Amino acid sequence: MAIPSPFLPPATIGVLGGGQLGRMLALEARRSGYRVVIFTNEAPGCPAGQVADVEINADYADAAALQRFLDQVDVVTAEFENIPDACLQAVEKKRPLRPSRDAIYTTQHREREKLFLHEQGIACAEFRIVEDLAGLERAVAELGRPCVIKTAAFGYDGKGQCKVNADTDLTQAWQPFEGHHAVVEQWVPFVCEVSVVGARSIDGSTAVHGCVENIHEHHILDVTIAPARVSPAVIQQALDLWNAVATGLNYVGTMAVEMFVTAEEKVLVNEIAPRPHNSGHYTIDTCRTSQFGQQMRAVCGLPLGDASAHTPAVMINLLGDVWPSETQHPDWSPVLKHPSAKLHLYGKELAKWRRKMGHFTVLGSTVDEALNDARRIQVTLGTRTA
Ligand code: AMP
Repeated sequence: MAIPSPFLPPATIGVLGGGQLGRMLALEARRSGYRVVIFTNEAPGCPAGQVADVEINADYADAAALQRFLDQVDVVTAEFENIPDACLQAVEKKRPLRPSRDAIYTTQHREREKLFLHEQGIACAEFRIVEDLAGLERAVAELGRPCVIKTAAFGYDGKGQCKVNADTDLTQAWQPFEGHHAVVEQWVPFVCEVSVVGARSIDGSTAVHGCVENIHEHHILDVTIAPARVSPAVIQQALDLWNAVATGLNYVGTMAVEMFVTAEEKVLVNEIAPRPHNSGHYTIDTCRTSQFGQQMRAVCGLPLGDASAHTPAVMINLLGDVWPSETQHPDWSPVLKHPSAKLHLYGKELAKWRRKMGHFTVLGSTVDEALNDARRIQVTLGTRTA
């Protein structure tokens, strides 16, 4: 199959979604001379729209607005996966969509994602698809307790999940899922969580940033440690799993795979993100080509860049909880005065509880040095006790 010609600057990249991932892609792409048009159902002035050439604010079902978007762009990507399928299909009819509608459709829905992993023989926690209370009872009997119920559609950051413990009443646990499909998953007593972020181009070549370690608080990513403090055997499994997912999806673009590591050093896929990922933000400051640089390159059909990191790093998420009030910023001086800390803010007007408002990355000559410095900055910011 002939490889289509690349889209070179000043071509226009269309982005579905207006959040921080679109913002960081737009900043990267505009630096290289691309034009960026954002299509989002958010209000005007969204994080990506603030830094794009054009922002279109409309519902994803608004055919006229979508046509206006498509008329202005050469190639389209998505910065989040929860985009109605009809919109993805309409886009793919008119412009190259990278990653494809198929890859987004599979990974935007937990049931389809799990079935894909199962079909491909990719290691993940044992699961059952459940449609009603009787199905839940069967699944829990087969999988054992603890296990976890997750909504099939549109869940993220632990939203739409319920852990089934030894004493959990199943009738009650099923209530929020009534009328919907859910995935019931065996509980994985993991020793750590890792992820791999990388890119795959239209000719099938790949470049990954390596395996990083993630610490979550309340199901939301809190800290990423790069590289992960795990054995070479774990790293190899993680990289192999990323490759298997990318190949299985015939993926084009930047993609993240989140994984669990068990005490026996077995690595299991938890989730696939068909886009750059929060655990890849450190790449902006440490890698020769960031996850957003790779996304731009893959989406535009350019050769991928060197994804390697020149230094260890630790990334700390800044949630709205850190802001003294919805509109008053914290005093950033503890981050800004550290010579190798980088502050990234997403331009969100209102700081809401647990809303991802920004992050900072601390570089170090070793992971321990970066982690110690990052923790010290957190203490001074008041987001962590000493
Ligand atoms: P998810 O939204 O599926 O990525 O889940 C959010 C977080 O919940 C994960 O990062 C884990 O910390 C935890 N979690 C989810 N599923 C499981 C599981 N099967 N076993 C243990 N912990 C889990």
